[in-house]
Amino acid sequence: MKQNEVAKTIWIRNPKAVLSDFDCGGGIVIADSIITELLSSGDRPKRKVDVVFDASDLVLLPGLVNTHHHFYQTLTRAFKGALNKSLFHWLKSLYPVWAKLEPEDIHIATQLALAELLLSGCTTTADHHYLFPKGAEDAMDAQVVASRELGMRVTITRGSMSLGEDQGGLPPSEVLQNEEAILCDSARVASEYHDPEPGSFLQIALAPCSPFSVTTELMKETSLLANKLGLRMHTHLAETKDEIDFFAEKFNTAPLDYLEDSGWLNDRVWIAHGIHFADKEILRLGKSKVGISHCPSSNMVLGSGICPASRLEEAGCPLGIGVDGSASNDCSNMIQELRIAFLLQRSKYGAQNISHLDAFRWGTKGSATCLGRNDIGEIATGRQADLAFFELSELRFSGANDPLAALLLSGAHQAKHVMVGGNWRVRDGQICDLDIEDLMYRHRDAAEQLLVRAGY
Ligand SMILES: [Zn+2]
Repeated sequence: MKQNEVAKTIWIRNPKAVLSDFDCGGGIVIADSIITELLSSGDRPKRKVDVVFDASDLVLLPGLVNTHHHFYQTLTRAFKGALNKSLFHWLKSLYPVWAKLEPEDIHIATQLALAELLLSGCTTTADHHYLFPKGAEDAMDAQVVASRELGMRVTITRGSMSLGEDQGGLPPSEVLQNEEAILCDSARVASEYHDPEPGSFLQIALAPCSPFSVTTELMKETSLLANKLGLRMHTHLAETKDEIDFFAEKFNTAPLDYLEDSGWLNDRVWIAHGIHFADKEILRLGKSKVGISHCPSSNMVLGSGICPASRLEEAGCPLGIGVDGSASNDCSNMIQELRIAFLLQRSKYGAQNISHLDAFRWGTKGSATCLGRNDIGEIATGRQADLAFFELSELRFSGANDPLAALLLSGAHQAKHVMVGGNWRVRDGQICDLDIEDLMYRHRDAAEQLLVRAGY
């Protein structure tokens, strides 16, 4: 059988360990794209299978789900002009560079970010794209092309910025779009690409960048449009103390009241960061089932604060994990992000209150719920066969006792195999059908040219 060929039925036999609520010691059976059987130790499939895959040296996770990213930022990693700055200053350093993005940049950056995510065990990812400079108005279409090339599931969010410096916002006018164009293109990409069915590979959500870069009218109009089209909604919220001050000065309100007044306090919304909330606000968010994308690396790089993730989850919020954009992380590695979330939340709440299983839940089922999906994020019958296989053969794992705990405690960073919908996408650490050296060459060149165009 060729590497990328789909087996009709496959038995993943006798894995070393499995992250599942069920006993899967004997492995799992996949038919086409779906998990059809979970086998207890010593059990065999009910029917004859086409392929038996020996997993006795492998730890098996549901494919990881990333809830927040900005793929284009892979072109501005570790940008000298933005080092050692907090969010608002960091953004102001980068906006003029991002204003020079061209269509092929979006395609290459998306390919590279997806490749990096896939190799880290991620099978589904959201992206928040809010930059549409002149000539790059079809950025969403470029992302769709790249996601199909990589064979991953994506929720691409049609972002927007419409509140410039001259109106009291943060971004310069050169990166803004007018609101009519934003809403028109949002409806277009939803109609062309959004697939709401189980097993979907492509979903669209609507995502004004942040309250300090769009008008209140656009927040409200976006909510109305999303409700009409049956789409989910996403934005950045309560990331920094500066943002809370901005709310008080410009709107004379707090982020959560602003969210409610704009029609955003409901279970079709997931927000990135969600750090600076009072206890009462956490309860309101939980009651409304607003999803939270916890982005620990980004929050630490920008010194934004620590998300009360555990409390938000207890209150009723779906809790997911996001790597955030690659200019504030500065990588796209989901299994590493789970380790960072585990360590950061443990440092906040204590060793006895946060376990590696909490971090795994956030990065799988919790993230899937944020994206409004119940067909992925779990190893269970009837779920999509999205799987990440890790081998504990590196030096860092030698002598490890609990295989699942070792992935986070010892710092796993790359999956050995990855399957999306029953289709192998990574085999032996290599992405199927992708020349990664060529992609990196083109990506490095694009990053250099972008800085040249921006005058660096
Ligand atoms: Zn972000």
